[in-house]
Amino acid sequence: MTVVPLDPASPASHAVGIDFDQTLVAHHDGWQDGRIYGAPVPGAIESLHALKRVRSVFIMTARPRRFHPAVAGWLREHSGLETLVDEDPERAYWQGDCLLVTNKKLGAAVYIDDRAIRFTGDWGSALTQVRHAIGLPAAPARHCC
Ligand SMILES: [Mg+2]
Repeated sequence: MTVVPLDPASPASHAVGIDFDQTLVAHHDGWQDGRIYGAPVPGAIESLHALKRVRSVFIMTARPRRFHPAVAGWLREHSGLETLVDEDPERAYWQGDCLLVTNKKLGAAVYIDDRAIRFTGDWGSALTQVRHAIGLPAAPARHCC
């Protein structure tokens, strides 16, 4: 595992990025036109507070921008933390005190996402995990000659 300690010279080291859907909020009944109807994933709110005490935190979402204010509202309602919707197309890092809601993959020490696999430098392992994650059977063994 890559360890990224806090480094004043590295803006990415100041932040943790957290996915929204199915990482912070649990939706058990599909997309529902984008309505945020789920409850917090168990432990999510406590973890948000714990991470906010040690790093800046941004919330990543692939939702269209029109949903970002609702994401920020859900976060405020459930965590009591201040939020900011990212309006800066040039933003690459986040070092603020509130939760930033963004659809950009900003620099971070670590990302938390229900759809991610950890890349360890081994593409064979990564492809095996990806094939499993997208519902494909394991690749057949390669035979040379
Ligand atoms: Mg997700």
